[in-house]
This record gives sequence, C-alpha cells and structure tokens, in this order.
Amino acid sequence: MKFNYTRGLFKDKKHGITFTTNGTIINDEILSFIKNNKISFQISCDGPQKQQDFLRTMVNNKGSFKLIDKNLPKFKSVSNNISVRSTITPYNMNLSELFEFFQKKGFKKIAFGLCSSSINDLIIKEKDLPNLLIECEKFSEIYLKHIIEEEKIIEVYPFKFYFQILHFGRKKTSFCGAGKSLFSVSTEGKLFSCHRFIENESYKIGDIKNGFDERCKPRKEFLNFNVENEKKCKKCFAKYACGGGCAHEKFTSFSKISCQFTRHIFYLTIWIYAELLTKHPSAFQKLIDKLEKKKNSKLVLTS
Ligand code: SF4
Repeated sequence: MKFNYTRGLFKDKKHGITFTTNGTIINDEILSFIKNNKISFQISCDGPQKQQDFLRTMVNNKGSFKLIDKNLPKFKSVSNNISVRSTITPYNMNLSELFEFFQKKGFKKIAFGLCSSSINDLIIKEKDLPNLLIECEKFSEIYLKHIIEEEKIIEVYPFKFYFQILHFGRKKTSFCGAGKSLFSVSTEGKLFSCHRFIENESYKIGDIKNGFDERCKPRKEFLNFNVENEKKCKKCFAKYACGGGCAHEKFTSFSKISCQFTRHIFYLTIWIYAELLTKHPSAFQKLIDKLEKKKNSKLVLTS
C-alpha cells in the first residue's frame, strides 16, 4: 500500500525508492519484489562478527552477523552494486579495517556515518574524536592507494559525494533532501522528513491518506532551510559541501562533533583529489570517468 502510494504520488516525476535493511530477513518474495520494482537498498552492518554482534544484537540477545552473512548472496543475486552502511560508534572507529572487510565481502559501495543514537554509550564523544580523526587520516591513505591500484573503484561515502562537489563545483544549500526531495514512510503510513525522524511524532509531516501537511512546522522548516541563513555555518570552509549538517543531529546535541568530523573528511577528500591530480594522472582520470557517469545524479547524502 505504501509502495503504491509513493509510486502514485510521483507518477509524472523521475523518482526512486530505496530502503535500508538490517539484512536479517530475506525470502524469494521480497527478492522478486525488489527486482521487479527496481528498488535500491543498502544493508546496515557495523563490521566483522565481533563488532556487529556487539553493536547489533537481536531480540533474542544473539548477534546478527551470521544471519547477514548467510543472506548476503541472496541480496547480491538482485543487485551487483550492493552497498553497505556502517554506523560509527566508539566501538568501531577502525575505518580502514572496516573498508577492507567490506571490500572482501564484495560490497561495491560503502557508506560511513556517525551514530546519533539516544543511547549515550554509542555516540562519539569529545574524548573519542582525536582517535577517530586519526583513523580517518589512516583510511584516506588506504583509500587513495585503492584508487591508484585497483581497476574498479569502490565508492565510499562521504568521499564520493565530496569528490562530486569538488570536481563539478557544486554548491549544497542543505545537507540532504530530507523534507524537500526526500521523505520516509513509516510502517503505519506516516510521513517523516527522513528515516531518522520516524516515530518522533513532532516531526511528522503528513500521512499517506491525507498527503503532506504543508502548514505543519517541521514541513515548513525543512522546505525553507538554507545554509546561507545558518549563523554557525557562515565562516565554515566546508559550508557548500556540508550544507548545514544533518537536521536530525541538530536535535541530539551532537552537532559540534559532527561538524569536526565533516570538516576533517572534506579536508581529506581535497587532499586525495589533489594527490591524484598532481601525482597520479591515470588514477585521477579513472576517478573522473566514474564521477562523470553519474554527473547528473542528485547530491543526496544520507546519514
Ligand atoms: S560543518 Fe558544521 S559549521 Fe560547517 S557547514 Fe556543516 S554544520 Fe555548518
């Protein structure tokens, strides 16, 4: 029903449907539904078994790694461009190792995003930040090597996203399309600006029976957001790459750390880009060819 609603709402517009799964449940019916309707998806996984089982426990208190691992070939059977999304917490900041692990597992796109959970233990704190930034530097060196040496480049977000900003000179005026060009539908059919706001009733922007509530505060806030009007962003060098930060993170007293992470990753992206441009022309061209293929794709970064 929700699927038909979305298709019906945008029948005259180019649009896509995507979902994130924890990868623990899959069957032939779901697989053919994904395939027949050209739905894209990503799997949440926070690392190898020890980290995944610790961070993503099932209701029966067992870890979820074995199930994901067992289901992975089935997911691969409907997508040869399979992507994984890893939520970074103080317990899995080893980005280089995660990259190598996911690469071995056959993922073609890897996204890293900071955890903005209400569970304090899982949030990156000031004391974790120095180590995380060092990990980012180690990882950027490994990723640079990967781009130089490997024939097929694995897309890593947010690097890939910032490469697009740098190379095509784009400007982002908001972090992502949340509430503007992107919205999420809850299992009860309620509409929210993005998946992170689901179940937070004060951020409900409509429902599938009545459509968007154009007069509600969160709907207006998202539609009117522009980084140019954000006081704290005015002097930030990463302003047009970041677009003002994730709206959800602003409500979790988390934005200071998130800003430092964003700026560091953007700085490292500039470094990778410059290294390739000045010292590795053929690898640079390989990267540009890949970016050119998706030149017209919308800049959407999910967190
Ligand atoms: S990094 Fe922080 S200060 Fe800079 S644009 Fe993003 S939200 Fe604003």
